[in-house]
Amino acid sequence: KTNLLVRDLRAGYGNLDILNGVDLDVPGGQFVALMGPNGAGKSTLLKTLYGMTSIKGGNIDWRGKNIAGQKSRAILGEGISFVPQGRCNFPVMSVDENLQMAAYTLRDAKVKADRDYVYDLFPILKKRRATLAGNMSGGEQQLLEVAMAVLQRPKVLLVDEPSVGLSPAAIGIVFDELLRLHADGMTILLVEQNTKKAMEVAQRAVILRLGQVIWDGLPKDITHDE
Ligand code: ADP
Ligand code: ADP
Repeated sequence: KTNLLVRDLRAGYGNLDILNGVDLDVPGGQFVALMGPNGAGKSTLLKTLYGMTSIKGGNIDWRGKNIAGQKSRAILGEGISFVPQGRCNFPVMSVDENLQMAAYTLRDAKVKADRDYVYDLFPILKKRRATLAGNMSGGEQQLLEVAMAVLQRPKVLLVDEPSVGLSPAAIGIVFDELLRLHADGMTILLVEQNTKKAMEVAQRAVILRLGQVIWDGLPKDITHDE
């Protein structure tokens, strides 16, 4: 299985350094929760893996290639996809139309979108395919956000705080969706403030602080000192 190898990764925004030498080795198919205090650089790590920050040094080795410094579109083409924080859907378009829009973007990255895959995996969205995204519940909208990012069946999915603003029931639905993708073989890197929930689903916890990995292990071994 293909590993994602992050070596001494340094990145930030303009002159601002946020990641100060991140080392991380993620085997294919693993479900990893990125934890740590606010401002530790968790979102920045996801954004850096997706080519959205300025890289100052280090490597991101993916399938024998250093993808550090590549543009998001190229990274998408390599099978790595990103679910940003918040909502990207068009509220006055139906679920189906939103998926078509996302598929259109993928065409640019020269990857094939597969709506049937999404509908097979997430029957809730299939049932809602004609519903306007803006008329759906927060949980359903978050499902759509994830669905829009997995149309091309990426090998790696980067997910930034999908539970923000959702009810416990909605959070359950969203995490079930992530577990289903994981069961399908997808590698998942999840940033999640809801520690309890993250620990339930993830196989591994990686804790960041001040832009570096300070702890890496099994979720059950995390103590309150970490
Ligand atoms: P975390 O996800 O661990 O809470 P972030 O990666 O979101 O941390 O943020 C790390 C630091 O980077 C914070 O100090 C934040 O204010 C800063 N930051 C995040 N995004 C930007 C940006 N677009 N421009 C400048 N600074 C940013
Ligand atoms: P989190 O820590 O939960 O990831 P933040 O509150 O750090 O989120 O950031 C929310 C959004 O604001 C992100 O898109 C981030 O890039 C942006 N952001 C955060 N800090 C800054 C900053 N200092 N300058 C510009 N954008 C920022």
